[in-house]
Parts: sequence; C-alpha cells; structure tokens
Amino acid sequence: MKISEILARSGQPFPSIEIVPPLKGISKEELLSSIQPLMAFHPPFINVTCHRDEIEFRPEADGSWSRHSVRRRVSETAVCAAIQARFPQVEVVPHLIGAGMTREMMDSQLYDLAFMGIENVLALRGDCLTGEKRFTPEPGGYRYASELVADIRRFEKAQGASFCIGVGAYPEKHFEAPNLEMDIENLKRKVDEGADYVVTQMFFDNAVFYAFRDKCVSAGIHVPVLPGLKPLSTARQVEMLPESFSLDIPKALAARVVAHADDKAACYEIGAEWCAAQCADLLKNGVPAVHFYTMGKSDNIVRILRECF
Ligand code: FAD
Repeated sequence: MKISEILARSGQPFPSIEIVPPLKGISKEELLSSIQPLMAFHPPFINVTCHRDEIEFRPEADGSWSRHSVRRRVSETAVCAAIQARFPQVEVVPHLIGAGMTREMMDSQLYDLAFMGIENVLALRGDCLTGEKRFTPEPGGYRYASELVADIRRFEKAQGASFCIGVGAYPEKHFEAPNLEMDIENLKRKVDEGADYVVTQMFFDNAVFYAFRDKCVSAGIHVPVLPGLKPLSTARQVEMLPESFSLDIPKALAARVVAHADDKAACYEIGAEWCAAQCADLLKNGVPAVHFYTMGKSDNIVRILRECF
C-alpha cells in the first residue's frame, strides 16, 4: 500500500522507522533480529537509507594511484527484499539518491523496485563525496531532488508504474540554503513536481518543528509533514549531530548530557527521556505520524514507542 493511502486511512498517529543498511559482513539474521522488537508497535512502513559508493585511491606498484569505487554497505534494495520476505505486513520505503546517478541508472533502479512490488520511495538529492567542495551532479543526472521527483513521475507515465514519493525537509534549514524561506520555496518545488508527503530531518526542539510546519502551510505546502526524531544516545553526539546534520541541540539537553559525559547509561537514558517527551508532545499537537531514526540502535526507540504508542 502507498504511504499516502496509509496516512489518509489511519485514524490515529503511528510510528514509522528508518534503518541504515548494515556494513558488509553483517548477516541478514542479525539485521532482521535488530528490527524484530520494533514490530510489536506495528510500524506501517520502514525506510531504508541509501549510501553513495565511496571513491578510494590506491597506490600502484609503478608509483601511480588508481581510482576505485567502494561500496561499504549492503544495498538498500537487498535490505528491502529481506524485510519484505520476513515482515510482509510492513511497507518498505527505499531511499533513492540522485547523487552519483544518471537518469539511465535511476530507470534501472526504478524497474527493480517496481518488479519487487515496491510502491513507495523517498527521493533525495544526496551529498558530495568526501573531499568534494560542493555538490556536482553526474552529467545528465540530477541537480536537485525536485528533478528526481519529476523524473520518477516521467518514468511512471512511460512504464505504467506507480510510486508514492516522499521527500526530505529541514526544520532548521538545509545547510546550503541561504535562509529557511528559500529552502521552503525549494521544498515546494518538490511537492509541485509530485511529492506526496514530507519527512523532516531530526530536531530536538519541537517549537522549531511547529514554526516550520506553519511556514510550510503559509508557503502553500499542504501534503503531510512527518516529524523525524532521534534519541541522543552518547555524549559525543552533542557535538557530532550538529556538525553532521546542521542542527541545534537545545542548551538544556546538551547541559544534562555533558554533565553525565562519563556515564554512558545515564546519557542514553537522558536522550531517550527527552525524545519520549518530544514524541508525546508531537502526538498532542496533531502530527500524522512520528518517524524514528534508529541508526542501528533499537533499544531506546523500543522504550520510547512503549511509552508513547
Ligand atoms: P534538495 O531538495 O535538492 O535540496 C538541496 C539544496 O538545494 C537545499 O539547500 C535546497 O534549498 C536547494 N535547492 C533545491 N532546489 C533548488 C533550486 N531549484 N534552485 C536553487 N536551490 C535549490 N542522504 C543520503 O545520502 N542517503 C539517505 O538515505 C538520506 N536520507 C535522508 C532522509 C531524510 C528524511 C532527510 C531529510 C535527508 C536524508 N539524506 C540522505 C540527506 C540528503 O541527501 C542531504 O541532506 C542532501 O544534502 C539534500 O538532499 P535533499 O533531497 O533535501 O535535496
């Protein structure tokens, strides 16, 4: 079933989950058993992130360097197939990233997904490779996620396929955008091209999300906006998450975690407690669903789901 239909039919808010494909070497059973505890909360869909191949330069015997494309993780398509087979009641939502892809490569990917009976995708631009200064699309590829959304709609018409398309958004602004208003205008381009719903980047202050949601409505964005949450789980993340995702950690949360920096269990507990309070507040404030970023950890999310759903 399409996520848009699930959202339209569900009378009450539900949790959804995002997982990261495991590094090569981790078995299918290890992956599936890490998802199993989350199934008790009946998430209607699970997103599977997509990771660009990395470029590695290796020294050769003659002193030159050779360029290699390296994939560190199992592909999102393989992970989706494993989840479909074990948990057929759950829709899988593979992330599609335009970065590093030509339109022909994307067509092949879409054929595979349609063949697998997958009806949902999250369309993203993706990021630079490590060492690149700014995002450069493949020749004939995608400059922005809006172009990818339009291309998926073109593929559907040509091939008789049909996808529900989600897109990403940033309550604290995407790091490349000059201001939030322009970023929201660009989000609207994705919706105008045919995106059915929006999932936000993680945030730790619900006031930021509510202000963003209001601005989206003022800008003419009327598709569902699903908030994304991640429980902070280590003291290191107080620095790492703002650096990696261009977001703020509220002072009150950072101070509590930093005060317990030497106590791993206490940091984990503080992060889960904060996230559960955020989730409960979002549910009171009319969100259609709450999307959880697991980043390979599910204990804290299970605890939050038990408390809130
Ligand atoms: P876009 O919507 O294209 O926006 C990128 C930038 O371009 C923004 O600053 C925007 O304001 C600007 N822009 C857009 N259109 C225009 C225009 N027409 N003219 C000028 N400027 C414009 N990354 C991965 O690699 N794999 C994943 O699985 C993944 N999952 C994600 C899931 C979610 C929910 C989110 C929010 C992000 C995810 N990302 C993932 C990260 C994402 O790929 C990066 O944040 C990337 O830098 C931007 O992707 P986007 O789809 O938001 O891009």
